Amino acid sequence: MNIPVIDTHVHLDELSDPDQAVTEAREAGVLAIVAVGMDLPSNTKILDLARRYPGYVYPAIGYHPWKISLSGVRENLGFLQEHLDEAAALGEIGLDYKVPVERELQHLVFQDLLDLAWRKKKPVIIHARQAHEDAYELVRRNDLPRAVFHWYSGPLEVLKRLLLEGYSISATPALAYSPKHQEALAVAPLKQVLLETDSPVRYQGLESRPAFVAQSLAEVARIKRLDPEEVAFRTNQNARDFFGIVS
Ligand SMILES: [Zn+2]
Repeated sequence: MNIPVIDTHVHLDELSDPDQAVTEAREAGVLAIVAVGMDLPSNTKILDLARRYPGYVYPAIGYHPWKISLSGVRENLGFLQEHLDEAAALGEIGLDYKVPVERELQHLVFQDLLDLAWRKKKPVIIHARQAHEDAYELVRRNDLPRAVFHWYSGPLEVLKRLLLEGYSISATPALAYSPKHQEALAVAPLKQVLLETDSPVRYQGLESRPAFVAQSLAEVARIKRLDPEEVAFRTNQNARDFFGIVS
């Protein structure tokens, strides 16, 4: 039996067989899964999956910058307003300057989402690519008490500021080979670290599933020179506090 851990970032609806992945995760000792949505169709699937696995799959619903289009804004924001109470967090949301979605539109949507999270008192799961500083600044200015910058691989200087503000970052299996990600985990206090897989993202050619969170655990333990049991115990507590997980 592996050490019990929580996978805090899974695109469960994008796995070829979500039910099989949940069974496998349970067998591998994964305590709980936070399933994240990208847009209206994926949010609907995530909420359905969470209803099938109460107390195991915790839903987060969001509007990913990759999915933003002018014609889709109204219905996506409407869905989130209506259903955010059913979710443990708002996410995945954020800013991505590498994709051809107008920055102005991304900012308008992100601001609206941060307002919503603030009103509903929900934690936020942030995606940022080539946009770490702007994403951090907007989260901070909106006074959000709980935010995780998922798979953080941005500038160290921004990282230090977001850590001082009390925000968290999450660790993926990419720690095995990504110097930027390793550097971030070396700096972040364990109290501000969550574990995740971003499944079904491929790491070195291999499609990930929630059971792969054991790799994120092993890598954080290696970087921090701590026992994996200790890292698991503390990051599980972080995940429970952050998302209200009771597993
Ligand atoms: Zn993701």
